[in-house]
Amino acid sequence: MPRSLSEIASFHAHVYYDPQTRGEAERLRAWIGERFSVTLGRWHDAKIGPHDQAMFQVAFVVDVFPALVPWLMLNHGALSILVHPNTANPHRDHTANPLWIGRPLAVHAEILPEEGAVDSTLLPNTNPVKPA
Ligand code: ZN
Repeated sequence: MPRSLSEIASFHAHVYYDPQTRGEAERLRAWIGERFSVTLGRWHDAKIGPHDQAMFQVAFVVDVFPALVPWLMLNHGALSILVHPNTANPHRDHTANPLWIGRPLAVHAEILPEEGAVDSTLLPNTNPVKPA
């Protein structure tokens, strides 16, 4: 049996940057916030979790995918972006099932559980960051 789309609770896009591309990441983040109904996560200027580079997270519901992801394909510039589903298996979400926009980076998925709570970062008013 194939897996069902109903497994996907939401998506994340992780936008990676380094000191040279942080300005570009700031611009992209502002553009996203102006155009899409998403939850913008905090800036992580140091590596965190399975991520191999500084990044910020964009969390969004399934219905936003067909507008946001092609838009990111056209507008990511020099930035690498990891788009992954959020199911009950965070390890698989980040290893077998993601897609990359731009240059793929390492993902240190060994720290991710095979089973976990479905991501809850889409709860209302989580990180209600809007560009100034
Ligand atoms: Zn994520």
